[in-house]
Amino acid sequence: MADTRHYDVIIIGSGAGGGTLGFKLAEAGKKVLMLERGNFLPREKENWDPEEVFVKERYTTKDAWHDKDGKPFQPGVHYFVGGATKVYGAALFRFRERDFEQVQHHDGISPEWPLKYDTFEPYYSQAEHLYHVHGHHGEDPTDPPFSQQLEYPPVTHAPRIQQLHDLPGGLTEVPFVPPIPLPVMALIMSLIVVLFGGGRLSIDWMMSRR
Ligand SMILES: Cc1cc2nc3c(=O)[nH]c(=O)nc-3n(C[C@H](O)[C@H](O)[C@H](O)COP(=O)(O)OP(=O)(O)OC[C@H]3O[C@@H](n4cnc5c(N)ncnc54)[C@H](O)[C@@H]3O)c2cc1C
Repeated sequence: MADTRHYDVIIIGSGAGGGTLGFKLAEAGKKVLMLERGNFLPREKENWDPEEVFVKERYTTKDAWHDKDGKPFQPGVHYFVGGATKVYGAALFRFRERDFEQVQHHDGISPEWPLKYDTFEPYYSQAEHLYHVHGHHGEDPTDPPFSQQLEYPPVTHAPRIQQLHDLPGGLTEVPFVPPIPLPVMALIMSLIVVLFGGGRLSIDWMMSRR
C-alpha cells in the first residue's frame, strides 16, 4: 500500500548537518522526516577507550568508497544516529575568513566558496547558542570577527596547561581554551528522539538499512 504520509522536508543523515537542520526546521513548525542508515551507537566500555575508537576504529564503517579513478579508500565515516558527532572532539571552531577563499593545500586546492564568512557569521552565533558553546571569542588571536560574544564561560584548563598559561612572560604561544559545546549533539539528538513519539516537534525518525 502506498505511503501517504506527507513531509515538508526529508533529511538524509542525522549527523551534525542533518541533526541541526532537522531541529531548527521542526522548531519552525515544519514536518520533518529524518532518514538514518545507522543504528544507535551501542553503550559499552569501549566508548571510552581511545585505542578502540581511534586506533582500531571500532565505530568507523568498513565500507569502501572510491575516488575519481575508481581506487577504493576507507572514508572514515560513522553510520550512527548522530553521525560523526558520536566520536568527535567537540571543539566548535568557526571557519576563518580565508577558509572561504581558494586555499592551496598539500594535496590540492580547496576552491573558493560562492558565499563568504560574513554570510555565515549570524548562523555561527545561532549554532553556538544552540550548542551551548563555552569559551571566549577573541582569546584565540586567529578568531574571525564576531557579532555576539559566547554566552558561556570557557571551561577550565587542565592543571599542566594552566601552569603554562600562567608562566610570567615565558611563552610566546599562550594556550587558550577551545570553544567547547557542553551538552553538545547528544542533547539535541536525545531531544529529537524523545520528542519523536510525542510529535511536538513533528519529527519522524526512520532507520534505513541496506
Ligand atoms: C574522530 C573525529 C573527530 C572530530 N572532531 C571534530 C571537532 O572537534 N570539531 C568539529 O567541528 N568537527 C570534528 N569532526 C568533524 C565533524 O564530526 C564532522 O565535520 C561532522 O560530523 C560532519 O557532519 P555531517 O552531518 O556532514 O556528516 P556526519 O556527521 O558524517 O553524518 C552523516 C550521517 O548520514 C548518515 N547517512 C549517510 N548515508 C546515508 C544514507 N544513504 N541514508 C541514510 N543515512 C545516511 C550517516 O549514517 C551519518 O549519521 C570530527 C570528526 C571525527 C571523525
